Amino acid sequence: MKNRSLLIFISALLCVSAIVFAAVYAACCSEKQSTFWVMDTISTVKVKGPGARAAAEKAEEITRNLDSSLLSRHSESSLTYRINKNAGGKVPAEYAKYIQTMLEVYEKSSGAFDFTLGNVSDLWGIGTDNERVPSDEELKEALSSAGADKIKVGDGEISFPEGVAVDFGASGKGIALDEISNSFKDCKINRAVVSVGGSVMLYGKGDFTVGIKNPGGEGYMAVLNLGSSFVSTSGSYERYFEKDGVRYHHILDPETGRPVSNGLVSVTIISGSGALSDALSTACFVLGTEKGMELCRAFGCEGVFIDGGGTVYVTDGAAGMLEITDSGYHLEGR
Ligand code: ADP
Ligand code: MG
Repeated sequence: MKNRSLLIFISALLCVSAIVFAAVYAACCSEKQSTFWVMDTISTVKVKGPGARAAAEKAEEITRNLDSSLLSRHSESSLTYRINKNAGGKVPAEYAKYIQTMLEVYEKSSGAFDFTLGNVSDLWGIGTDNERVPSDEELKEALSSAGADKIKVGDGEISFPEGVAVDFGASGKGIALDEISNSFKDCKINRAVVSVGGSVMLYGKGDFTVGIKNPGGEGYMAVLNLGSSFVSTSGSYERYFEKDGVRYHHILDPETGRPVSNGLVSVTIISGSGALSDALSTACFVLGTEKGMELCRAFGCEGVFIDGGGTVYVTDGAAGMLEITDSGYHLEGR
């Protein structure tokens, strides 16, 4: 009888231990991964920690909502669609803040980052069924509606002349990552890596390794060793079409309305802000290496610039973060 009680006691103890172990394991080590299509690109979410599932769901919801209700230029449900149709209107505080950040990049980049090139982008139709090379007259007309200096924002309102097309194409992914990062502060998570297209958020303690895509082929050409931060790459190899042997990509020179052609093929920016890493990767691509580096310094960001010949240029701070892994690429001067 005594032996039986002991056996029951030991079994119960084992059961309780297993339950406690499972609960502790779930709390510390739970992990959630998801992949979905949003903002016209692929997004991946990897989260670790007891609140991983809820955090990952939140990340997806935030990105989808931000796109469909605020940032999309083509979705009729979005605020950007409405203000573009009505030459402005009332906007919530967070939207005014996004516009102010973009205006700051517009000004400091001397207009190289221009988030009002929507009509010019539409002419090229890159990534749509209507890809084509527009005529000089068409470009001239579309450019006449561009210029972020036409945008006035303040007091919960935005206004601009009729025909201007505000476009978050170069900054929306980074803005989404900022919002996700803020939402994670209330979640019980330890680490997360979230990407929306070429913009990535590294969240949590410890080190992260991020690959920089090989602009001329498969896989990665270098890795960046980073702490918690935002990383964004703009490249001429991602979205483009070819006509008569010429490649036309989606990053436009605001002066000509044509794809930027300055020898660069990829620019990666590392920043403490998602919106800035995204906007500055586009801005620096347009500006070229020298002026792009100056812009990085003005915003306290780091940058990696790659030209079509395989030469890699880095800001002082990025030098210690970068390891080139593909022999087809070399650091400037080495
Ligand atoms: P991706 O969309 O591949 O992440 P970017 O962040 O560099 O690349 O943004 C490119 C998009 O930004 C274009 O598709 C267009 O919508 C818009 N765009 C193009 N040229 C400019 C520019 N000079 N300034 C601001 N936005 C631009
Ligand atoms: Mg960008």
